[in-house]
Amino acid sequence: MTDLHRLSIRELSEGLANAQFSSRELTAHYLKRIEKIDAQVKSYVTVTAEQALAQADAADAAIKAGNATALTGIPIAHKDIFCTQGIKTTAGSKMLDNFISPYDATVVAKAKAAGLVTLGKVNMDEFAMGSTSESSYFGATKNPWALDHVPGGSSGGSAAVVAADLAPFATGTDTGGSIRQPASFCGLTGLKPTYGRVSRFGMIAYASSLDQGGPIARSAEDCAYLMNVMAGHDAKDSTSINKEVDDYVANLNGTSVKGLRIGIPKQYFNVEGLAADVKARVEESLKKLEDMGAILVKIDLNMTESYVPTYYLIAPAEASSNLSRYDGVRYGYRAENPVDLMDLYKRSRSEGFGAEVQRRILIGTYALSAGYYDAYYVKAQKVRRLIQQDFLKAFENVDVIAAPSAPTTAYKIGANLSPTEMYLGDIYTLAVNLAGLPAINAPVGFDQDHLPVGLQLIGNYWSESQLLSVVHQYQQATDWHTKRAAIAEENA
Ligand code: GLN
Repeated sequence: MTDLHRLSIRELSEGLANAQFSSRELTAHYLKRIEKIDAQVKSYVTVTAEQALAQADAADAAIKAGNATALTGIPIAHKDIFCTQGIKTTAGSKMLDNFISPYDATVVAKAKAAGLVTLGKVNMDEFAMGSTSESSYFGATKNPWALDHVPGGSSGGSAAVVAADLAPFATGTDTGGSIRQPASFCGLTGLKPTYGRVSRFGMIAYASSLDQGGPIARSAEDCAYLMNVMAGHDAKDSTSINKEVDDYVANLNGTSVKGLRIGIPKQYFNVEGLAADVKARVEESLKKLEDMGAILVKIDLNMTESYVPTYYLIAPAEASSNLSRYDGVRYGYRAENPVDLMDLYKRSRSEGFGAEVQRRILIGTYALSAGYYDAYYVKAQKVRRLIQQDFLKAFENVDVIAAPSAPTTAYKIGANLSPTEMYLGDIYTLAVNLAGLPAINAPVGFDQDHLPVGLQLIGNYWSESQLLSVVHQYQQATDWHTKRAAIAEENA
């Protein structure tokens, strides 16, 4: 079969179960595609071909023995922020270019236990700070829809591998939009779960109170399969919540779009910088949902102007604390021939971290310093609570809230946005993390340059099933999620 990469996760699962193809054939097919096509996309930091084929053989044996899960034998790519035992984990940084984790992140361990085959580790913005994946020490990943554009970030590699059919699906992480925005830029479906739904153990920390792992895939159905593996309580993560996990696949038809109340925040559609094509495509998708029986309700989210400043205070503050562990002694990169201990710290950190990471450490350290702590950090936390309350008030009247995922489509590589311009591009995603809510991106069409546009649906706490179900039904009635970039059509 030459078109195994065209199959959905359900079709792959059925094909493996019915012995239409083996996991070895499927895995070899993807490895061949990676070899042929990834030089153009530059999405993988590490390809683990040998281990993948061994895992595939084990999966084939398990399938034969009747010990398979729904996902046994299906390949996956992991964002290079999830620790993988024995395999390099870089977080896109020179600081960790030589870091081999002695253990697996819980998400990786769960994927292995489900029988998934790891193809490799994929590129990302350094320490997940960014919106383009250009800040990676390993160079920029390309958007499969237009190779001179970025795939988004920070999970740009995760989105690019799926959009180029170099993996059937991928893990990502979202601190302020890093699953939803790259999914939007690459025409994919991506889910940021409720804070605490997916274990952060072994997921390299950026901003601990905001970070959350989730799936990036072609459809809500494919995401549901991966959520069934990723979600769940983990005693190794004290912020992971001990709450029963839904069967996201079984629930795909569990929510009716008929009568669903969708809140449309007035403030969101008047944002300066919202591209006309993005606005039009998102409005068309909402019209489609209305035709399917949803009720569109205008709502107010009065805190919109506070999202960017609040996030860009709290996230760097937490990052400055989290990244203090990279000191040239305990982990990763160490400067050569230091004259004394201070010189070792200083040079290891200045040589090991890139410019954006250093900028955030500086901002965060400043905000947390004695004398400024109350004025900045404590104040930002108070505003954060107001942002959360704004959402909770809105959810008294609506089931989900609709927004673009990003104000524009993918930027050109090397567009060189100033930091503040780049931060403003996160306007629609940040508040979800500040409030700890779940949200999903679904592809809803293209702009005039044929770059994908995404619709974001934000749900109340623990409404992952509902979000996946609404998008699933939208995807049953439309075909945006089936569109493929030209490079994905290429056969290896
Ligand atoms: N673009 C945002 C940032 O740079 C979000 C990144 C993320 O979600 N990891 O912080």
